[in-house]
Amino acid sequence: MAGGPLTDLSIAEARDGLKAGRFTSKELVEAYLSVMEAARALNAFVTETPERALAGAEEADRRLAAGEGRALEGVPLAIKDLFCTEGVMTTACSRILDGFTPPYESTVSQKLWDAGAVMLGKTNLDEFAMGSSNTTSHFGPVENPWRRARDNRPLVPGGSSGGSAAAVAARLCPGATGTDTGGSIRQPASFCGVVGLKPTYGRCSRWGIVAFASSLDQAGPITRTVRDSAILLTHMSGFDPKDSTSVERPVPDFETAVGRSVKGLKVGVPKEYRVEGMDPEIEALWQKGIEYLTDAGMEVKEISLPHTEYALPVYYILAPAEASSNLARYDGVRFGHRAEGGGDLLDMYEATRSEGFGAEVRRRIMIGTYVLSAGYYDAYYLKAQKVRTLIGRDFEAAFADVDVILTPTAPGAAFAIGEKEDDPISMYLNDVFTVPASLAGLPGISVPAGLDGDGLPLGLQLIGKPFDEETVIAAAGVIEARAGFDGSPAARGGGGA
Ligand code: GLN
Repeated sequence: MAGGPLTDLSIAEARDGLKAGRFTSKELVEAYLSVMEAARALNAFVTETPERALAGAEEADRRLAAGEGRALEGVPLAIKDLFCTEGVMTTACSRILDGFTPPYESTVSQKLWDAGAVMLGKTNLDEFAMGSSNTTSHFGPVENPWRRARDNRPLVPGGSSGGSAAAVAARLCPGATGTDTGGSIRQPASFCGVVGLKPTYGRCSRWGIVAFASSLDQAGPITRTVRDSAILLTHMSGFDPKDSTSVERPVPDFETAVGRSVKGLKVGVPKEYRVEGMDPEIEALWQKGIEYLTDAGMEVKEISLPHTEYALPVYYILAPAEASSNLARYDGVRFGHRAEGGGDLLDMYEATRSEGFGAEVRRRIMIGTYVLSAGYYDAYYLKAQKVRTLIGRDFEAAFADVDVILTPTAPGAAFAIGEKEDDPISMYLNDVFTVPASLAGLPGISVPAGLDGDGLPLGLQLIGKPFDEETVIAAAGVIEARAGFDGSPAARGGGGA
């Protein structure tokens, strides 16, 4: 670590350097605040919280000096603007929540502060986490710090946690929180060349996270290394009586899984993920991933997940159904934006919601109310629930034979801002490989594994058994070590940062 800027340090290195007194949290925070300012063109942050960060750093330095440093003492982090942060505006990047300042803190962010971490600011996302490109944000799109080798158009960072992924890739923070409903941690991680870990449903509390689709939403870390994701996950996880779907079971120290031997474990390769017209570069990368794991002593098995093709349609029935119900609370009375003008209460609701929600959110609410309507409930919603069960059973059967499953994270690399805007179906296809694990509630990680012909990062996904994040982390560590991915867009002449 000698010589390089402090902002190049991983979370593990920053943590250890702080403990050893090689630099202070104040120095670290100041370094990040200045690169954040210089990289505002990326639009990765919607709110910067420099005063809070500096005050937190001072307190951390006091504790460190007194030998009372906690696990993440003085480590700066960014928080996706979907997590409620007490006293700091939280918008879900929707106009309808513009100006909303929560009087409470989400459980996950509170746990990170309790471990000593310091908040740098809130990151941009697709409005209400609906999207795969971070272009539906009320605050405008985020730019990916990577650019194609021979084409200087700004690219999307993926979504919905695009601000978090771009900020981590551009070294505006060493780690950030994300949320993943159908792929929103893993897909942006793949697009930005960073690591994104979605834990098992129930591992992290959803309390205080603005709800999108409650049966799918999960918080997780976005970082530059597998070890850092393991470190953050340890301090984000745990039972919370305030979330009835959080699961009461012990939280291991996930960092101990990094570097653990995977020898003799079995990796499943699902034949249904070889989708028609698959990009040969993605196919080749997948093959490489298989080699990395077999080199490390894992045994490869072809597996079948026969209901894979139904995952995307099922997701796009269930997620909008839940969203339409969750978003009913935004009525102009309790939170954020309220339309001006006359009329009665119903007029006010209508005007507020049509002004406050963007086009994609309105589309989801309409799909959701339609599939839940009396005439179509059985045909769509109920049917989709049944198929969701079958998708879960596919994984259960597969995990009788294998320990972990390897797939690509996304069907392609980052695309240009605006490129898929008028084609919602092709936008939805981004999640074809991530949605099945979401429906089954399984842990999944995206780890950068190589570059495509344009010099853009591509990720591989590992899916694990319920609550077996440790095997996922161990296998991801193998791919990370063997791929030798250089996660620096600047080093490759990327634009932006
Ligand atoms: N891209 C998916 C969607 O638009 C997933 C989003 C997410 O995981 N939050 O719904």
